[in-house]
Amino acid sequence: MFENETARLQKIVDASRRIVFFGGAGVSTASGIPDFRSENGLYGEVYRGLTPEMILSKSFFYLHPAEFFDFYRQYMVHPEARPNAAHRRLYQWEKRDRLRGIVTQNIDGLHKMAGNKRVYEIHGTVYENSCMDCGAQYPLDKVLRASGIPRCERCGGVIKPGVVLYGEAPDKYTCMGACREISNADTLIVAGTSLSVEPAASFLDYFNGKNLVVVNREPIAADSRASLAIRGDVAEVMGKLREDE
Ligand code: NAD
Ligand code: ZN
Repeated sequence: MFENETARLQKIVDASRRIVFFGGAGVSTASGIPDFRSENGLYGEVYRGLTPEMILSKSFFYLHPAEFFDFYRQYMVHPEARPNAAHRRLYQWEKRDRLRGIVTQNIDGLHKMAGNKRVYEIHGTVYENSCMDCGAQYPLDKVLRASGIPRCERCGGVIKPGVVLYGEAPDKYTCMGACREISNADTLIVAGTSLSVEPAASFLDYFNGKNLVVVNREPIAADSRASLAIRGDVAEVMGKLREDE
């Protein structure tokens, strides 16, 4: 069954020239980064009685920055993680001009690390951090190495990670770019996401191409609209596809 579905995906890929890949935390679990809502996801792992959704919120960040950074460094940043077979396949597709872009909800930067250029990180990235007072930019290391709240070397302001917190609006231009790519795609592959976070979930409405493909371990609402829904591991499925000629 699985082989058969991978063969169907291969056929779709072979016939597509403007693929857009729309992914979430499940794309990076094979790189050792836990997702949120799976059985082993972070949602089961409460921190001082709070859920990640509460801690990763704008209000928690402003009210309890020390606790925020404690959780953030422990659970949200994985500098040792490396791209897996899914990231590598997408890099190959971009090089061969088969992939138009990647829209990701992940903040781990792994698509860019794999070499992809047209990446829309709609929830930002842990690799870009800036002072809330003077705007000075800082690398991830600065946040990781600080004990407690990371502070700006120039003005002493708090350094805020470049990730979109719950209660914050994602960057307008990144979202516009992502929706434009999706609306121009001939094939949209939705993978490793529960698609339960807005506005990401409604990006799907911009797709009017031929093939909507879902690759996810568990069923998601978008399955009903998909021309092919594969219940499986993203890295495994993408790894099984043929090297592009
Ligand atoms: P989610 O946890 O809500 O959903 C992940 C989905 O991926 C689940 O449906 C799960 O069944 C599926 N999945 C997990 N591993 C898989 C695999 N190997 N193959 C196929 N499917 C797999 O994640 P989400 O929809 O991305 O939303 C969570 C939010 O949390 C996002 O906004 C994201 O920014 C953030 N987050 C990011 C990371 C990261 O950057 N790697 C990790 C955790 C959470
Ligand atoms: Zn500053």
